[in-house]
Amino acid sequence: MATKRSRRMTPEAREQWRCFLCDRSSSQIGAHPLPVQQRAHLLPNRLTGGLRRYGGAKNAFTDAEWDILLGAIGSELSAESSGGDQIRKQAIAHGYDLCGECHEEVLSEPIYLPCVMNALKKRFMGRTRVDKILLLARVLKLGTEALERD
Ligand SMILES: [Zn+2]
Repeated sequence: MATKRSRRMTPEAREQWRCFLCDRSSSQIGAHPLPVQQRAHLLPNRLTGGLRRYGGAKNAFTDAEWDILLGAIGSELSAESSGGDQIRKQAIAHGYDLCGECHEEVLSEPIYLPCVMNALKKRFMGRTRVDKILLLARVLKLGTEALERD
């Protein structure tokens, strides 16, 4: 997960590749309109500039936003990290191997039901960008914890 990967995969690595979420291999997925093997980062490139493609960061986090973000989720990224710059680099590099279906068609395009939007609306008003990002991360965490209890 939180590993660096060379741009070129060996045929063996390509054969062993699995989507982190659905565990399908490239051959199981077969032909798909989206690239099968994708890298989904914990934090979007537009906020971190972690990747140079697409022009890098569009509206990068400020240092103050980084401090708030890592104060809230940094401990979940790495218990053994010394913090500071190291954990920021970890947060930028942290990613998952996902198939196009999981990454682009499902995770990147969630269905926001009206009841969810109304609940978010109450909590988004007057909040900063990083507060909203952290609130949505909390919603997802609480939702998945509720799923585990089902
Ligand atoms: Zn998948």
